[in-house]
This record gives sequence, structure tokens and C-alpha cells, in this order.
Amino acid sequence: MDSRSTPVRLHLKKSEALEITWADGHESILPLRMLRRMCPCAGCQGERDLLGRQLLPVVKTSFDGPITALGAELVGNYALRIEWADHHQSGIYSFEYLRSLAGSHQ
Ligand SMILES: [Zn+2]
Repeated sequence: MDSRSTPVRLHLKKSEALEITWADGHESILPLRMLRRMCPCAGCQGERDLLGRQLLPVVKTSFDGPITALGAELVGNYALRIEWADHHQSGIYSFEYLRSLAGSHQ
């Protein structure tokens, strides 16, 4: 596995950020607000129809209030599933995705 997308330490600060230390020594702090907005599930990113057109997400979440995570759990050894205070929990964040979010944020 690529050390750039292999976490050696994960720490969820439930009303702030997800801290990740990667196997290559890099540390990332991903604000929860950003993670929630970048939720990769179909409901948040919008489903595509048969022609590949982007459909608008059915549910629009307001991001004005505080963003809180209830918890997170590992999915296999490649991803993290985050459960949010609004009980949304279908987003599975692969470590590669998290690392790419970190890269675009720092
Ligand atoms: Zn989602």
C-alpha cells in the first residue's frame, strides 16, 4: 500500500477536525465542515442519470450551524466511515480520498 494514503494515526475531534498522521510522516488536519461538504456518497454529490448527467442532490444540507461527528469507524483497511450528528452516515471516505482532500487544503 502507498505510504501517502496509509494512516498510522487517526484522531477524530468530534466538533472540530479529523487529524491524520500518514505513514510518510505527513500530518493532516481536515476540518469537519470541509469533510461534511465533501461527503462522497451519492446523496450528497448527486446521482448521475443513465446519460451521465449530474442530477441535483435530493437533500440540501445547510452548513451554517456547527458540524459535529458522532463517530467514525474503519471500513476494511482502506477507508473511514463517518457518522454525523444529523445521522448521515453513508459517506465512505477512502484514505486516498482523505489524502487528496488534505493535499488540496494545505
Ligand atoms: Zn453523504
